[in-house]
Amino acid sequence: MDGQQIIKLFYTSGITILRDVYDCSPHDLAGGLMSLNTARKYTRLATVFFGPADSPKVQRDAVALAEARQLSVEYLEMVNKHAKKLNTRGAAWKLRAELIAHKGTLDEVNEYGKQRVTEEGCDKQKQRGVRVGRAIDGLRTISITDTQRKITDLEKTLDAAITDDDQPRSEALLEPFWDLVEGNGTGLIKPEYRTVIAIGLEDYAKVSCGKGEDVVVALSDGTTMTGAEFINAAMEGALGDKLYVGLFHPTAGPVNLYETRFASDKLRTLAMAENLVCPWPDCNVPADRCQVHHIDAHKHGGHTKPSNLTMLCKYHNGVNNDDPDGQRNKRRPGKPKRGKPNRGRIRRHRGKVRLQTPGGKLVGNTHHVSSMGAMNLI
Ligand SMILES: [Zn+2]
Repeated sequence: MDGQQIIKLFYTSGITILRDVYDCSPHDLAGGLMSLNTARKYTRLATVFFGPADSPKVQRDAVALAEARQLSVEYLEMVNKHAKKLNTRGAAWKLRAELIAHKGTLDEVNEYGKQRVTEEGCDKQKQRGVRVGRAIDGLRTISITDTQRKITDLEKTLDAAITDDDQPRSEALLEPFWDLVEGNGTGLIKPEYRTVIAIGLEDYAKVSCGKGEDVVVALSDGTTMTGAEFINAAMEGALGDKLYVGLFHPTAGPVNLYETRFASDKLRTLAMAENLVCPWPDCNVPADRCQVHHIDAHKHGGHTKPSNLTMLCKYHNGVNNDDPDGQRNKRRPGKPKRGKPNRGRIRRHRGKVRLQTPGGKLVGNTHHVSSMGAMNLI
């Protein structure tokens, strides 16, 4: 059996594995093969699927279906992660059965599971507060949880005081932080939304006539605000004296921005409104801290026009493969690659900015603010 066949067998035998693991002690199972923690993970999961349950019939049927569908241990673990958050009698097994029967890839069912737990109202809300950790190796950590507005304003204040651009961000923020605490700065920056706000025409109409309680708009600093907060900000003059209107075409992408003076500023603002966070999958750097990126590289004749521009964070701008047909493919086969590995490149597909992986898959960023960018509003 080759490596791929072994992986396939492992990933289609979840129930078979758990059934045999159920009678095992984690110490016997570990047996020098795996860590005791991993072994405990298996035996705990096996107990869920084969141990006593409050809904034995649902449990039996769900296990039979999971075996027929050849689900993996990883899949069953994901199912259990969601289901165990439900506390009322029978609810957890009902959800396990539902997720085992749900059609889709593991990632799709995972998203669906999250959504179902939220619907059942069992999501633990984060609590606002200041948490202080214990000392480890002479260092301690403090973490602050508060509204996205407050923390983002603090972040912007510290960002503005960074003096050395080459330092890692976390280190660079430290000195401005202590300056602020010790009262050496000018206090928190008052939010002024030079930041870009993306809002669809229909929502804008609703918000303008005071009916926007259910409208949530997203900002290029990575936060969101309700329609009411948007109107308040406009009344307080925090939106600036001009309202910028970006025009987006459903398949061509950004088209034009009205009411600005500088061409470069205008293009940058349009690009920010399009995605609001870096469009690289799983990235969460807000557009305010991103760099303008030419989708077709300038050196290959790419134009500085709206549809060829997007915002990428410094890191992803660096790893993007600007030379898809260049040096990389000309290398002699068998010769080890030098330099950075190919991570794929950003391109525009049907109007939207996507990562094209080296294997040819087109993947978008599913960050919640990114999915509220201008191109998703039309
Ligand atoms: Zn990024």
